[in-house]
Amino acid sequence: MRAAVGTSGVDFQSVQSAPSAVGASFAVGVRRPGRDLCEIGDLDLDATCELLAAARALVPLAAGDGPRGRVALRGALILSLFNEPSTRTRLSFEVAARRLGAQVVDFQHDGASSAAKGETELDALHNLDAMGFDAAVVRDGRDGYPLWLCSQLRARVVNAGDGVHEHPTQALLDALTILEAFGREPVPGALDGLRVAICGDLRHGRVGRSNLRLLRTLGAELVIAGPGSLAPAELAREFGVGLAPDLDAALTGAHVAMMLRIQRERLPADLRLPDDASYHAAWGLTQARLGRLAPGGVVLHPGPMNRGVEIADEVADGPRSRILRQVTLGVAVRMAVLARACGVSAETCLKEQVV
Ligand code: ASP
Repeated sequence: MRAAVGTSGVDFQSVQSAPSAVGASFAVGVRRPGRDLCEIGDLDLDATCELLAAARALVPLAAGDGPRGRVALRGALILSLFNEPSTRTRLSFEVAARRLGAQVVDFQHDGASSAAKGETELDALHNLDAMGFDAAVVRDGRDGYPLWLCSQLRARVVNAGDGVHEHPTQALLDALTILEAFGREPVPGALDGLRVAICGDLRHGRVGRSNLRLLRTLGAELVIAGPGSLAPAELAREFGVGLAPDLDAALTGAHVAMMLRIQRERLPADLRLPDDASYHAAWGLTQARLGRLAPGGVVLHPGPMNRGVEIADEVADGPRSRILRQVTLGVAVRMAVLARACGVSAETCLKEQVV
């Protein structure tokens, strides 16, 4: 057993308190190596490269090019537990599962469930687990919730974003997008010599943290940038990365500009930020600023985008943008992650009968 908090550098209690049904045991979880994916740290370098290679092999299927689906996960049941709003991630996992022949069942412990009759969240989860799901894909506002679920469920747990802690499949799909953009193989040192600038709200988001962990492991040179309240020096120190004084400095010579949205839903009430136009002028990726990137430099954004704030329309929709490609590659990554969670190799996914 270990505390679920330590790696995020953020006190989860300050993000959202756990519901009474879950209670004090929430802060701890059990690590089950091999198939759960709660944090980037659950994958060592070899497992990371293997997963990226598997995802890459699955891209044609994810993109709907060629075969439309395979049955490698036929009979598998995936529980989709999204306790926070989501478009891309929820549907991406669902599409990934369906493309491999698995079935997906959604659940929310809300007024439409037996929560309305006084059932606790924990009882509801144990009942669902008794139905024999193979894996649970979990999005929740509470840091460490997926890891805690590992101590409660027989089903394998896949983190689809927990509070400000981690979003491991987002980082994996970002890495796959960068590998593809620069023609790199998914091997140790894959990102050697590439400079990645992660810009915007790293403090109140989870995408930046997962990426700082993963991209560094793969050899990238990392720099963060943003207003001090969103990209603080402590975070740069915690991750051992550079902190640029302004956006222009961060972008100069960068091969990748990863733009992050201000996480307004998590900002402390007393935090004062510039209005959107002033933020865009200081910290927005504009067409003029794109010229600072290294030759062939690309733009990433995990979505949802706030156009005209952290990114200009012409950049989001322009030739350097890999934003929609991230979405396609995200399905491939989630196929590989779900196959791993269900104990099925990528090789089997590719060999299994086409439907
Ligand atoms: N979709 C990503 C997440 O769930 C990024 C964001 O919401 O800004 O963390």
